[in-house]
Amino acid sequence: MGVVRVQEGRLRRIAEGHPWVYRTEIEGVDGAPADGDLVEVRGPRGKLLGTGVYNAKSMLTVRLLVHGGGDVDDALIESRVRKAVAYRSYFAEPGTDSARLIFGEADLLPGVIADRFADVVVLQVLSLGMERWTDLIARTLVDLVEPRSLLLRNDEPIRLKEGLPLYRRAFFGPEPGETVLQENGLKYAIDPAGGQKTGYYLDQKDNHDYLRRFVEGKRVLDCFTYFGGFALNAAAGGASETVAVDISDEAVARAKANAERNGLSDRISFVTANAFDYMREQGRAKARYDVVVLDPPAFTKSHSALEGAIRGYKEINLSGMRLLPEGGILATHSCSYHMPERTFVETVLSAANDLGRAARVIALRSQAPDHPVLAGYPESHYLKSLWLQMLD
Ligand code: SAH
Repeated sequence: MGVVRVQEGRLRRIAEGHPWVYRTEIEGVDGAPADGDLVEVRGPRGKLLGTGVYNAKSMLTVRLLVHGGGDVDDALIESRVRKAVAYRSYFAEPGTDSARLIFGEADLLPGVIADRFADVVVLQVLSLGMERWTDLIARTLVDLVEPRSLLLRNDEPIRLKEGLPLYRRAFFGPEPGETVLQENGLKYAIDPAGGQKTGYYLDQKDNHDYLRRFVEGKRVLDCFTYFGGFALNAAAGGASETVAVDISDEAVARAKANAERNGLSDRISFVTANAFDYMREQGRAKARYDVVVLDPPAFTKSHSALEGAIRGYKEINLSGMRLLPEGGILATHSCSYHMPERTFVETVLSAANDLGRAARVIALRSQAPDHPVLAGYPESHYLKSLWLQMLD
């Protein structure tokens, strides 16, 4: 087996459980491993740190599969898939038939994502290292979940960075067409082969549910609604009126269809608009809502863009707060790993301060636990969900 030697100053992160060795951290490579080969990762004086898959084409040159000693083989991969699926059973709820089954590194399966949407499983293998186990992972999932279809959605452009081709095919069963999933007792039609990410955002399901306790008889604004997640839960929770905004025609069309499917369309109005502009206009028109939800896409995909992202979060949170009277509730989100939780909270609270208003923190929440956070791998904690009440 080839050996990748890591520079002295870079050992700690790996020793603490981080699963990546960056190209820039490598002191030398012995034994001329080919891309996709297993390699040992060692410290400068030969101490074994772990075993992983080598890919010189990627900035993440080694993805570790075990830390310390231990064999990497089919049995290991299969047992990790089984453990990942078993872990999700803790969170099974009546009224919810969908979950993230594998969350990449956080399930010790680097670059592997699997979502279950009702009776369809969508699998993505995004790293060269795991590509060779695609069949094993897919077969194990079929065995455990017994889906109608398993769709291999290997069409994420990120695969190109790993030197992998883009394709999409049904691994098992027919091509899934439109699929209806259930979350918190609500039905959503999704297209597992189209749509963003693997088709639907499952990470917000607990926050969707949490919203319900604040909405009885209230007016709710859901900005960045996508398929209507927060808006439908607001209406189902008894909101008197809900407005849902998204910039994408396709998202709004789907959100509308989902509202109809659940018999909620008479209590939700949908707007196709830029949420930044929409909130500003509503502010000028002195519109008021009791609850405002903000769930924008990641403003920053890199650390260097953080300043711009902070300004973006500040701006939408200022606009959202302006729509809230005393007692009003803001549920505000950031799904960018590069926006640290603390910076996000400070940014939002500084918006209240700029407006000269007092606010109380109700809760600081996160992604649903089927998107687990791996100790030593902070990248796995990406979703911040801050709930505030305006006190004046
Ligand atoms: N709140 C959703 C997920 C939101 S994903 C849920 O709970 O499931 C982010 C959404 O923001 C996408 O649907 C995208 O179309 C939309 N979006 C991106 N930029 C926008 C903008 N400037 N104004 C309004 N919507 C925007």
